[in-house]
Amino acid sequence: MSDRNALRAFPHHRLMLPALSLYMLRLSAARDGHALARAYLDAARELLGGAETTLLEVHMPLDAVSGTRTLRPGETIVRRFDARAGAAGGRRPVDLRGVHASIAQRRALELPAADAHPARLLLPIAGEGNPRRVLTIDEPADSPEARVALLQLSEIFANQSALIDQRERDALTGLLNRQALAQRYMQMLGTQAAGPDRATQQLWLAVLDLDHFKRVNDRYGHLIGDEVLLHLARLMESTFRYSDALFRFGGEEFVILMHGDAGAAARVFERFRQTVAAHAFPRAGNVTVSIGYTGVAADMPPPVALDIADRALYAAKAAGRDRVVRGRSTGGPRRVGEVEMF
Ligand code: GH3
Ligand code: MG
Ligand code: MG
Repeated sequence: MSDRNALRAFPHHRLMLPALSLYMLRLSAARDGHALARAYLDAARELLGGAETTLLEVHMPLDAVSGTRTLRPGETIVRRFDARAGAAGGRRPVDLRGVHASIAQRRALELPAADAHPARLLLPIAGEGNPRRVLTIDEPADSPEARVALLQLSEIFANQSALIDQRERDALTGLLNRQALAQRYMQMLGTQAAGPDRATQQLWLAVLDLDHFKRVNDRYGHLIGDEVLLHLARLMESTFRYSDALFRFGGEEFVILMHGDAGAAARVFERFRQTVAAHAFPRAGNVTVSIGYTGVAADMPPPVALDIADRALYAAKAAGRDRVVRGRSTGGPRRVGEVEMF
């Protein structure tokens, strides 16, 4: 359909244009995946309203040997982008109706209301990489021109996402990479609650290192070692919330950033340690991790928090591995120049 015909078909299309260009500006201004997802989700919500609008990330497992990824319902990890970072409700189960089908068919799907489920519009985001993304809108507003605008925004979002994924994600695991850490850290430090909520929404940084990983490589070979790293990344994705940031920091070292109170941080990291210890890794069997973590003070630069967590990690290793140790800042925050830069 020509542009002229499109305008005739949607007589209110012109009215959408100022809003559309504003959304486009917001999307193009986003410098990282989190800000981009938020801008896109906000635009979708404003355009189509709806009872519930979510952006889902579908992580497909990579077979380390064949190097291919598969989209099989049961084998993917689906993470929900939650703009209300850390807010109650982050643990609600993800509603998966139509999600895998819309990705596989590469087209928008509309599901009618059925049983207790509301009607749903699903827009898979174009892309070949991992993760795949799907926008879902329950009870979307019935506005053709808003849908056209949203489709156009979705193309921009797809292009921007592909660029940002390439820059800030680790190729093997799909987790964020070391280069993305400082920016996410500063962003999450900026959104940690101030005032009375400070203690309940504090930022925590954990460094996680596989125990005796050299042995795994020596015994089973590097490919199986890589497979263990992949499985660990998937365990992280299924354990932590989308609002927590997960990094592959180095070879067999990972970093986690999360908001919460001291009790929540201790519980979550300990639970993850137990999850790994109980997991049967294909071929490699049992593998354990050691974790060092620390609360992040408001004016603490990333290398200082990493240094404190790293020392706690070494303490965990020295104490026998397969354990979690909380590190504490000695005195006031040190200046960046005084510790090893990462
Ligand atoms: P520990 O941390 O418990 O002290 O022992 P470790 O054996 O895990 O520690 P070390 O730091 O000495 O060795 C880390 C090993 O991790 C070295 C290397 O064989 C392995 N490794 C690092 N990066 C990768 C990777 O990308 N793939 C694989 N397969 N192995 C890796
Ligand atoms: Mg190491
Ligand atoms: Mg290690």
